[in-house]
Amino acid sequence: MRVAVFSAKSYDRQFLEAANAEHGHELRFFEPRLSTETAPLAGGFDAVCVFVNDVLKRATLVILREGGTRLIALRCSGFNNVDLEAADELDMKVVRVPAYSPHAVAEHTLALILGLNRRITRASARVHEGNFSLEGLLGFDLHGRTVGVVGTGRIGQVVVQILRGFGCRLLGHDVTESDACMRLGLEYVPLEQLFRESDIVTLHCPLTPETYRIINADALMQMQRGTMLINTSRGALVDTRAVIDALKTGRLGYLGIDVYEEEADLFFEDLSDQVLQDDVFARLLTFPNVLITGHQAFFTEDALRNIASTTLHNITCEERGQPGSHRVSPSLVKA
Ligand code: NAD
Repeated sequence: MRVAVFSAKSYDRQFLEAANAEHGHELRFFEPRLSTETAPLAGGFDAVCVFVNDVLKRATLVILREGGTRLIALRCSGFNNVDLEAADELDMKVVRVPAYSPHAVAEHTLALILGLNRRITRASARVHEGNFSLEGLLGFDLHGRTVGVVGTGRIGQVVVQILRGFGCRLLGHDVTESDACMRLGLEYVPLEQLFRESDIVTLHCPLTPETYRIINADALMQMQRGTMLINTSRGALVDTRAVIDALKTGRLGYLGIDVYEEEADLFFEDLSDQVLQDDVFARLLTFPNVLITGHQAFFTEDALRNIASTTLHNITCEERGQPGSHRVSPSLVKA
């Protein structure tokens, strides 16, 4: 197939080209994000290969379809950025990479928890300046603390496994309960109880209409004073303005995020020469107890290798009309 790869970075090219040796598709790499403005670039390509911040609303899909594109190959697991009903109506297939390395994201979640708790960035900056004072670096033992895991799927389960090793008490909330998580000692509870009893709340559910801003002012009010909130899932799970208010009052004691609702205008680019235009993000950066990474939780060699090989496998299956292409259907988003 002829495949137009959007939002292509050097590492996408490296891993996709290596994996394509087995498949022989014609890959063309485009640096811009896919949007109504850039969709005409895909004219004549059978498939587009896109990432988390490529927005595939109806208008973009119509342009793609008119240009001959029949397949959307997501090189990520989330699919909230695609209008699935419009794709279905236009007879365009959508495929994704459901699991490439739950470990990558789960381990990054722990990096945020530990980094915040032990104030690693602050401590390191101090030591580089010859300041060995411990004032302001006080942490807590994770052992014995209660962690609430919202979404106990692939990533959530690995988080549970790791936290079990730390000796945490584990609470969970999901629309489907996992036996594996219960065997690891996790107790499923209503969301309100999870918020009330957790020292740390970590989000691992997908972004759907039901989970949009699952962390809002009401949810934050139910949490204990000083709770740590971690979001490595999708930015819009969290109402950022409500979170800022909760950080100001101390209701939230720590915030660790790898995703941000308005990240599409910021993440994956070097903007260090530019004036930051997003005042909400700018406010987040002022808090000493906020740790932000730019959607890098997935970013390990192992994950990129798996993403590339599953993406090309999906495209080959669709080309040959074979099953196993990890299709996304509109019913998934309503599930
Ligand atoms: P998964 O599908 O295996 O697990 C998601 C879990 O969330 C499922 O158990 C599902 O039942 C549950 N869920 C659905 N609706 C829910 C609700 N309303 N309340 C509570 N739980 C609900 O997915 P996964 O592979 O574990 O990935 C989870 C999310 O992580 C993805 O949707 C994606 O948004 C995010 N992600 C982020 C990165 C990153 O780099 N930061 C990388 C990969 C995935």
